Amino acid sequence: MDVSVMAQEGGRSPHNGQQALFPRALTPFERATLLWLLPEDKPGYNEYRKYISMWKVVGEGRRGSGNYILAEPSTIADAESPLPQVLAYGMIEADRADISVTLRELLENQLEFEIVNVKGETIPEHFTEKRRWNFSLWTPKQPCPICCRPPREVTIRREIGSDATLAVCVSDRRLWICDARDGVNHLIPVTNFHNALMLYKNIRDPERALAADNFFKDLHMFSDPDLTAAFVHYNKLRKKVDLGTVLFPKTKITLLERVASLFRK
Ligand SMILES: [Zn+2]
Repeated sequence: MDVSVMAQEGGRSPHNGQQALFPRALTPFERATLLWLLPEDKPGYNEYRKYISMWKVVGEGRRGSGNYILAEPSTIADAESPLPQVLAYGMIEADRADISVTLRELLENQLEFEIVNVKGETIPEHFTEKRRWNFSLWTPKQPCPICCRPPREVTIRREIGSDATLAVCVSDRRLWICDARDGVNHLIPVTNFHNALMLYKNIRDPERALAADNFFKDLHMFSDPDLTAAFVHYNKLRKKVDLGTVLFPKTKITLLERVASLFRK
């Protein structure tokens, strides 16, 4: 169909003339940026690289400009289904823009991504990059990708072997879980994780239980087995990784805890 006819016909729709823009190829900047989020040496990310090479942008996502859906060119973009979880996230810091890059997990043969300037309405045509970071490249024992300080790490051991590592950066108020099986780092929203921790610790005082912000302040008060148990509980409700049975580390119980446990019985 002639493009001008299509624009006229769509005159009354909110997507006036938009059909003519899709499908389109990724711009070189979009393509390079998305591939940067998907390191080749990590299988969980590597398997996504083929979509970046093969597919086209078939429509806008629900957030509008900068948020797009990548799929086979004949696909009609579905922006109605619930948003899939974030697979990869990073930031390009420049003189005139901070560009956040988000790629979500594959859902029914389409991939949603967002490349936006968090400092302004649009991405300037020319900018000088200062630095860039993402969570995809992180592996255990490395510093936090944002602040370069060591995060707190808790190794979660699967019965069938291979670990998952829970990492918490107090200064950036971020937590994520790294799955050793595919190398993917899944970001975890603090509120739901904090709820799971409060339930596990049986903390009901609303001042503590409802204030997820306290999680980072109080992190030192929770042991590795506490954080492991909280993650296992959280992961049952909002699955990030396949854990199977988890081996809990044996902990030394202090005399005080032993006395306290006698009173709880
Ligand atoms: Zn950090």
